[in-house]
Amino acid sequence: MKPAPFEYEAPSSVEEALRLLADPAIETSLLAGGQSLVPALNMRLARPERLVDLGRIEGLDAIRDENGALCIGAMATKRSIERSALVAQKQPLLHEATGHIAHPQIRNRGTLGGSMAHADPAAEYPAVAVALDAEFRVIGPSGERRIAAADFFVTYLTTALAEDEILLEVTFPERPAGEGVGFAEICRRHGDFAMAGAAATARLEAGRYQDARIVLFGVDATPVRALSQEERLRGEVPSEALHAEVAAAIGAGLEEPPGDQHASPEFRRQLARTVSKRALEAAVARAAKA
Ligand SMILES: Cc1cc2nc3c(=O)[nH]c(=O)nc-3n(C[C@H](O)[C@H](O)[C@H](O)COP(=O)(O)OP(=O)(O)OC[C@H]3O[C@@H](n4cnc5c(N)ncnc54)[C@H](O)[C@@H]3O)c2cc1C
Repeated sequence: MKPAPFEYEAPSSVEEALRLLADPAIETSLLAGGQSLVPALNMRLARPERLVDLGRIEGLDAIRDENGALCIGAMATKRSIERSALVAQKQPLLHEATGHIAHPQIRNRGTLGGSMAHADPAAEYPAVAVALDAEFRVIGPSGERRIAAADFFVTYLTTALAEDEILLEVTFPERPAGEGVGFAEICRRHGDFAMAGAAATARLEAGRYQDARIVLFGVDATPVRALSQEERLRGEVPSEALHAEVAAAIGAGLEEPPGDQHASPEFRRQLARTVSKRALEAAVARAAKA
C-alpha cells in the first residue's frame, strides 16, 4: 500500500520544527529515521496531514561526553551509536543492546529518539534507558524540561511527550566504578523484535551484591523493572541457585505478559525467566572482573 497524501517540511532549526508542530490547523507528525513511521504510513495506520522531518537540523545527532555523562542527540542513528567508541567505553549496556536492534539497514536510518518516542514495548532502548536511569531532554512551546526514564514510558506506544514537544537528547549518567552489565533477548530470527529480553547491571562488594538492576522488555506495555528481586539480591553471594530463584520469581511476578502468534503469555513468562537469568549472570561475571 502507499501512504495517504501528506505535506512535507524539513526545517533547519528546532524553533522552526516547534512552530510547525504547534500549528493547530494541520495534523503533523515528526519524522526521524522513518523505520517505524513509514511502515505505519504505508499501511495507513497513521495518516498525518504533514510530516516534519528532523533530519536537516544540525547538531541533533551529536554524541558527547558532558562531565562524565553520555549525551546522545535524538537524531543519532543506531549505527552511529553502535560504532561510537565513546558509547562502548562509557555505556557498554547501550552499546551491546544496539547490536540486537533489527538489521544493519534499519540501524543505518533508525534513531535513538525515534525508538524512545515510538515506545514499542518490545524495543531494546526503552529498557536500557530505565536500567541506566537515563534522562530525556525535551522541548515544547513553553521551553525545555527533563523527564526521567522511569516516567517517560507511559503505556503501549505512548510516552510522557506532549503532542507539541520534541525529544532533543537523552543523557545517560556516568556509571559507578566496578559495575558489570548484561543483556539477553530471545527472538524467532536474528533481527526480529524480541519475544522477551532483559537488561541488567550489578555491583559487588567483598563478593556480595551491593546492588543490581533488572529491566525486562517485550513482556508488558512498558519496560518492567524487577524491583523486589533487585532488593532481594542486595547483600547476597551470587550463585547459580540464587539467580535461578530470582529469575523464577521475576517470571511468576509478571502481571500480564502479552500473547501473540509468536509466544503465548505462559511462554513469555518462561522466556522472561531465561533472559533475566542470562542478563544477571553476564552482569555479575563482568562485575567480578571489574
Ligand atoms: C523490520 C524491522 C525490524 C525492527 N526491529 C526492531 C527491533 O528489533 N528493536 C527495535 O527497538 N526496533 C526495531 N525496529 C524499529 C526501528 O528501531 C525504528 O528505527 C524505531 O522504532 C523508530 O526510529 P526512527 O528513527 O525510524 O523513527 P520514526 O519511524 O521516524 O518515528 C517513530 C515515531 O517517533 C516520533 N519521533 C521520532 N523522533 C522524535 C523526536 N525527536 N521527538 C518526538 N517524537 C519523535 C515520530 O513522530 C513517530 O511517531 C524495526 C523496524 C523494522 C522496519
